[in-house]
Amino acid sequence: MLNRFPPKVATIEELPAYQLSGLQWTVRHAFTHSPFYRERLSAAGIGPEDIASLDDLRRLPFTTADDLAADYPFALRAADFGDLVRIHASSGTTGKRKVLCYTHKDVDDWQNMFARCYELAGLTRRDRVQIAVGYGLWTAGIGFQQACERFGALAVPVGPGNLELQIAFLIDLQSTVFCCTASMGLLLAEEVHRQGLRDRLSLKKIILGAERSSRATLDTMRECLGVEDIYDITGLTEVYGPGTGLSCRENNGIHYWADYYILEVLDPLTLEPVAPGEIGEMVFTTLCKEGAPLIRYRSRDLTRLLPGECPCGCIMPRHDRILGRSDDVVIFRGVNIYPGQVDEVLHRVQGIGSEYQVLFDHGPDGRDRMLVRVERALNGAAFLDEQVVKQVAGDIKHTMLVSCIVELLSPGTLPRSERKTRRIFDQRVFA
Ligand code: ZN
Repeated sequence: MLNRFPPKVATIEELPAYQLSGLQWTVRHAFTHSPFYRERLSAAGIGPEDIASLDDLRRLPFTTADDLAADYPFALRAADFGDLVRIHASSGTTGKRKVLCYTHKDVDDWQNMFARCYELAGLTRRDRVQIAVGYGLWTAGIGFQQACERFGALAVPVGPGNLELQIAFLIDLQSTVFCCTASMGLLLAEEVHRQGLRDRLSLKKIILGAERSSRATLDTMRECLGVEDIYDITGLTEVYGPGTGLSCRENNGIHYWADYYILEVLDPLTLEPVAPGEIGEMVFTTLCKEGAPLIRYRSRDLTRLLPGECPCGCIMPRHDRILGRSDDVVIFRGVNIYPGQVDEVLHRVQGIGSEYQVLFDHGPDGRDRMLVRVERALNGAAFLDEQVVKQVAGDIKHTMLVSCIVELLSPGTLPRSERKTRRIFDQRVFA
């Protein structure tokens, strides 16, 4: 496996030494070529010669989205403008766009990482890859497309939205792979089902990016589109873009490309490593990125590391699905509620559909309350409403240790969108 785009180490035992040399290169490169990093490292009293082991990573200062905003637009730049070939930008949560710059080698490395994802997903050069994500400033569209071409499959760059055109091309061009967000995949599945077109498609695989997806959503896509495998692809603009990791066919976590970056999982409050298997914030340090290297970049994304080898045979380490944002963690009656936990609980409940909403507000008695709104499944007639409501409330109580009110709605009641759908709403007013 992974013959064409193999890991840069033959065994996992070789990884630490490989990462150390990459870390040493990155610190030296950043110190030498980036005024921002030179100042930051100097303030911390650390120079390139101080990195003697991987443990020295812990001595390095963090980088955040605020740093990108403060030094807008060419924050973190560590290459001469003559060596830069492209920028990408993403929306910052605080308003200012994040702009990241790439050298030719960065683009090349990104394509290799992403092509490895296609290989792990079992694609061949004969696959036809319909790309239904955004082009332009975003990393998504061009990332999926260039890696597809590097891999040697046929790219069908439709871009986002436009369901009718997506369906027409799925039929006319007989695309075998569809790349989209989970929301888009669900809309497509429901529309193909509505029009009765499933048998005219040749789709085998779906690659989902940028958004968490519930088990019910995946089931709907499998059933309505007739696909065999659905993969989650990870990546954020700061770390090249999508393609820095992929769930494998074992569907047991996401293999990440630890020969291109070091992933730390830290408690978002103390910034110390969490215990193995615990949820924490993903912090990235790149190993060979030239244009805008990352040193301990706080992504705000939450996940946990998954120890042990994967039965699929891929030696690269794994982390869990993205379990929300550290900014989105809601504290309810003293308990940390991670959005991803709600997904996980609802996955297991039969008789409910793909969409849900969670609202936090104050009840008539002034106490905080949590309202979970779910939809009855299309084929949910076999399940009594009271049973479903009891099951959802019971599972949430059992897993997250909080009580909630459950509201069961008719199928299709909750809002859907082709883009990311917001599902957690905290409407409490804090004095
Ligand atoms: Zn695997």
